[in-house]
Amino acid sequence: MVYAVAISELSENKLFLYTSQENIDLGERVTVNFRKKKTAGYVVAKSESVRQLLEDDLISSFLEDQEILSSGQLDKILERTDFVSFIDQARIYGYLNASKNYQYPIGRLFDISFPPSFDKYFTLYVESASPLFKFEKMKFEEFKKISKHKEYIANGLVRVYRDFESKVPRPRKDKDEYIFLSLSPSEIVKFKLTSKQSAVVNYLLIRRSAPIDEILKDLEDAKIDRNVIVQLKNKGILKISEGLETSETSEEFGTQKRLTDEQSEILRKIVDSFENQKHLLFGPTGSGKTEVYLEVMRTALNLGSVLYLVPEISLTEQTIARIKEKFPEIRLAVYHSYQTDSKKVEIWAKAVKGEIDVLVGPRSALFVPLKNPKLIIVDEEHDDGYYNNSEPYYDIHKILQYMPVKVIYGSATPHLETYKYAKEGTYNFHVLSKRFNVELPDVEIVDLRKEKMATPSISAKLRDEILETINNDKISLIFTRRKGFSRVQCAVCGYFVKCDNCDVALTYHVDKEKLKCHICGSEKELSNTCPVCSSSMFVDKGTGTEKVERELRTLFPGKSIGRIDAEIIDTPAKMKEVLEALREGKFDLVTGTKMITKGLDIYRIGLIGIVDIDALINYPDVNAPLRTFQTLVQVIGRAGRKEKGKALIQTYNPENPVIVYASAQDVAGYYERELLLRKELNYPPFADVVHVMYANQSAEIASETIDAVAEEIYKTDEFIDILGPSEHPIFKVQNKFRYQLFVKTHNPEKIVRIISQEKAKYPGDWIVRVNPPEI
Ligand code: ADP
Ligand code: ZN
Ligand code: ZN
Repeated sequence: MVYAVAISELSENKLFLYTSQENIDLGERVTVNFRKKKTAGYVVAKSESVRQLLEDDLISSFLEDQEILSSGQLDKILERTDFVSFIDQARIYGYLNASKNYQYPIGRLFDISFPPSFDKYFTLYVESASPLFKFEKMKFEEFKKISKHKEYIANGLVRVYRDFESKVPRPRKDKDEYIFLSLSPSEIVKFKLTSKQSAVVNYLLIRRSAPIDEILKDLEDAKIDRNVIVQLKNKGILKISEGLETSETSEEFGTQKRLTDEQSEILRKIVDSFENQKHLLFGPTGSGKTEVYLEVMRTALNLGSVLYLVPEISLTEQTIARIKEKFPEIRLAVYHSYQTDSKKVEIWAKAVKGEIDVLVGPRSALFVPLKNPKLIIVDEEHDDGYYNNSEPYYDIHKILQYMPVKVIYGSATPHLETYKYAKEGTYNFHVLSKRFNVELPDVEIVDLRKEKMATPSISAKLRDEILETINNDKISLIFTRRKGFSRVQCAVCGYFVKCDNCDVALTYHVDKEKLKCHICGSEKELSNTCPVCSSSMFVDKGTGTEKVERELRTLFPGKSIGRIDAEIIDTPAKMKEVLEALREGKFDLVTGTKMITKGLDIYRIGLIGIVDIDALINYPDVNAPLRTFQTLVQVIGRAGRKEKGKALIQTYNPENPVIVYASAQDVAGYYERELLLRKELNYPPFADVVHVMYANQSAEIASETIDAVAEEIYKTDEFIDILGPSEHPIFKVQNKFRYQLFVKTHNPEKIVRIISQEKAKYPGDWIVRVNPPEI
């Protein structure tokens, strides 16, 4: 047999041919000689002959221009690693197609489908496969010492398989101890709780009751132990009892939810439509999307398993609690990168064997080869968390696109491409029109051209609103960006200079006293007067969270002010700490970046202040306006989850579409407009953009190399437009100079292939990405 093999840890997106006498399953791991080295690989296709493999268009697209095809002499596969495949055909098909179209290195997709240290925890065993051949199951290492072991395998007398060496499960207690909240939510808020205590309370607010062992396991990451439960019991907040009983306060939690007509109609359509359709569920924050996912899950669980993806690890706990509330008996597990290797292997093994019904996790969970998946939910599907912005670069949408499984994408501000597919009918489109119970907040625009400022970044109006919010015993969230980039702006009308080619703000370079575009590289002279109103222009260095925090301290002395940005919060644990502090009511005011939009379900947020959105809209990135719009809608959606809240947007550009549509919470309106614009400019989702960056210690070599790439692409007719070459906005990193190039194309496969050829010629630091989040 001839086998097409994907090579482990290879950054080239190619398959290589090998032969073997054995019948190896698709997806099996093997060892092969690759470029004179013993290397791990994965079998992705097999056939009787090379010719037959070449007739498969999908496979042959990975084989082109390999010398081996002409020479005809193929190497043998040296060894099978597992004697069993963990990766099914549907998944292989998904990986191959995504790799082909978006040039994700195929071997790497297989690599990340196995947990790290997998082989340390999985052992190869041998057992008899014939009644005539009796022997005790043994480890393969032992079996290999038997002289004729290869014959036994070849003749099918023994079966070789890989299994997880799990610890013996702890014996269960005769009777489960259950815990319940014994007070109502309104009584509980009166207590000052530690973050660990409130984690338990939050969990129980959703689930109402849970066996004590289970809650300890679910909140393992939060390091909750029995002491925390005892503390809460001593405060009289919860009760422990044997066996299941209903909590006295259960009515307050609203025991059984009945779907609204709108929700039921969507449920019916999703469940009825044929198996592997993709769906977009589009509805504002709090409109009941999660309720719909859960009900679709009910049907899917009768047929197989479910994967529930969330954009951030910090969101797994609340998701687990909601799933368990609805399906208390379910076998549920979480998989994420902060777990220990042995934990990951344990979960992975259960998932592969079909011992997990619902797997919850961030993007890496998609690569767990869950057995028999019938539904994949992608919550907050617009989130950047679904793009892996390091090797191997991938967008989970692109992989799911080719996986034959039912997918529900959900968001209040969808990924633009998902929205386009849904509008066109490629995906099923479902809309939840409004929030459940509470109205969306009122949004007011503060026109900075007219308003008085209290500090350089806070208007008098915003200051007054914050004061009122504090007096009402509610929290204010002040949203800004972390750091600024310098640009030249008019002090009076807010005008700033944009690139004629790229429609993005030009960045001011102090050294050259010039304005420069970081996409196409074009430059403009600095002018001192505004072309719109003839007032004087100044260099705006932007605000940033730190500066805003400082100004708020001067405006509100004695108030407690928190800060949420990537500088302060660099681990999920720290994020949790701040969130708990917020829930515990430790802050009156919080400043934060986009991070504050994620998973912030705090009822007491009364006001959202948006301080410096103009610079974000005009950030030198084609995706900046859309991303800012999404962020704005999400940030505004954090206000008033229980009672109607309020949002204030400060801007110099009240007529900017981002501001206009966001303040009206008109997502569809903005998206239609953005789609038209992008169609005209040939930007995604109407064309693909390939980004290439090259870095070298010599700026000259870096520049020449990227020029050579551009030249090769110009020779073809596969590009629509080439932007650049230009300096990267952060030109020098670790003493290397960076140049970049953007190629608009309808054939990213071909463009990346050309770049790969150049890459082989010029070694060094390369980044090649298709449709990166920032352009
Ligand atoms: P989303 O996922 O769109 O943010 P959720 O599903 O979390 O919205 O719903 C928001 C709130 O409304 C939740 O507290 C949820 O329990 C509640 N809710 C949603 N649908 C219903 C329903 N049909 N009956 C009762 N409560 C509901
Ligand atoms: Zn002006
Ligand atoms: Zn430009």
